[in-house]
Amino acid sequence: MNTLQTTHDWSRQLWRDNVDPEFLSALRQAITEHVVPHADAIDRDDVYPVEPIKALARLGYTSLTLPAQWGGQDSGYACCAAVFEEASYASAAVGISLITILQAQTLINLFAAPSLKQIVLPEFSKGLITAYALTEANHGSDIRSLDTKAVRSADGWILNGRKSFITSGSAAEAFIVLAETEVGVSTFFVRRHMPGVSSFKGENATTFGLRNGPHVDLILENVHLPADHLVGIEGKGVRQAVTTLDFSRTVAGAISIGIARAAFDSALKFASQRIAFDQTVLEFQGIQWYFADMMTEIDAARLLVYEACRALDAHQDIARYASEAKLLASRVATRVAEQAIQICGAHGVTENAPFGRYLRDAKAYEIAGGSSEILKNTIAKHLLKFARTTMQGDQV
Ligand SMILES: Cc1cc2nc3c(=O)[nH]c(=O)nc-3n(C[C@H](O)[C@H](O)[C@H](O)COP(=O)(O)OP(=O)(O)OC[C@H]3O[C@@H](n4cnc5c(N)ncnc54)[C@H](O)[C@@H]3O)c2cc1C
Repeated sequence: MNTLQTTHDWSRQLWRDNVDPEFLSALRQAITEHVVPHADAIDRDDVYPVEPIKALARLGYTSLTLPAQWGGQDSGYACCAAVFEEASYASAAVGISLITILQAQTLINLFAAPSLKQIVLPEFSKGLITAYALTEANHGSDIRSLDTKAVRSADGWILNGRKSFITSGSAAEAFIVLAETEVGVSTFFVRRHMPGVSSFKGENATTFGLRNGPHVDLILENVHLPADHLVGIEGKGVRQAVTTLDFSRTVAGAISIGIARAAFDSALKFASQRIAFDQTVLEFQGIQWYFADMMTEIDAARLLVYEACRALDAHQDIARYASEAKLLASRVATRVAEQAIQICGAHGVTENAPFGRYLRDAKAYEIAGGSSEILKNTIAKHLLKFARTTMQGDQV
C-alpha cells in the first residue's frame, strides 16, 4: 500500500474538528482499520467495498441519523458529514457507497408507510446495502418523465423498465426506483431477490472516478410489489427524490472535502520532504501560495458543508445550503487535486501516487448526485423566489 494513502496523524492538528473529538477519534480508528487497507484495491479493481461497509454498519456509522426506534443513533447531520469526510479522506468510493445507503434510508424514513418502515429501517443498522435508481438512458438531469413504468395490480404494483448508471448497484440488496405511474413519477422500494429484478454491467458502467464497482443497469421485468412498496404519495416521486437529494448533497459536499484534504495533506508531506535547489519545495514562495489558496478554499467549503448540516438539523433553507455546499466543495476538490499534482511534479502523475485517484474522484463528483449546473439552478430558484416575494414593489 502506498504510504501517502494512510490517514496522516498530523492532519488532525491542521484541520479543525467539527464534531466531538471522541466521536472523531473512534471514527478515524474505524476508518484506519476497515477502509484504508482496501482503498487502492477498491479503485484499481472497481469493486464494491462490501466488507468495509458491513464493518462500518456494525459500528453504527450507516444509521447515524435514523431515529433510535429503528436502530439508529438519532444523531445530527454534522456527525454524519464527519463520517463521509473521514471515510472519503481514505476512499471516496467508500463515501459514495455510504451515500446510496443514506439516500434510501432517508427517503423511506421521510415518506414510507409505517408497515414498510417497520420492516426495512431496522435492517440498515445490520448492514443493508442499497442503491438509488433515478437515471435512465434517456433521462439524466430531467426525471420529470420516465420510460420505467409502474401499473396497479390487484394487490400492489407491477414494474417494468431499465435504470442506468446505478452506483452501488453491483452489490445492492435493495433499490429505490423511480417509475412513472398513471398520475406521474412515483417512488418504489424493490428488493434484489424479487422475481424479475436483475442487473448487468452495461457499456457505460465503468467510470474513471468514484469507482465502487460498475454503475450497473437495473432491469425490472414484471416485478410484482406489495402496495406499501410505493414510497410516499403516488405522483410525488420527483419532489420526494429531490428532497432526499437535498440531504445527500450536503454529505456529498463532505465527500469532496475528504478528497480535497487528502490531496492537500499528501502534497504537503511531499513538498516538506522534496529537495530542489538546496531547499525543500515548500520553501519556494510560489509553492506556498498554492497551499495558501488551497487551504483557504478547503476551509471555506468545509464551513459551508457544516453550515448545510445545521440547516438540515434546523429544517431551514435545506435546498439552498445543500446545493451551495456540494457546488463549492466539488469544485474545490477538483482544483485542489489538480494543484496537488502540480506541486508534486513527476511524482504527482505516477500511478503509484494517489493523486490520479483524487483528481478522477473529485471531477466525477461535479456531475454525480446533481451536476453543478443543476445545483446552480436550484440556488437561483431560491434567490428568485426571495426576490419576487421580498423586493416586488420596492423602489430601486
Ligand atoms: C459517477 C456517477 C455515479 C452516478 N450514480 C447514479 C446513481 O446512483 N443513481 C442514478 O440515478 N444516477 C446516477 N448517476 C447519473 C447522474 O445522476 C447523471 O449523470 C446526472 O443526473 C446528469 O445526467 P446526464 O449525465 O444524463 O446529463 P444530462 O442531463 O444529459 O446533461 C448534460 C449536461 O447538460 C447540463 N444540463 C442539463 N439540464 C440542465 C439545465 N436545466 N440547466 C443547465 N444545464 C443543464 C448538465 O449539467 C450536463 O452538464 C451517476 C453519474 C455518475 C457520473
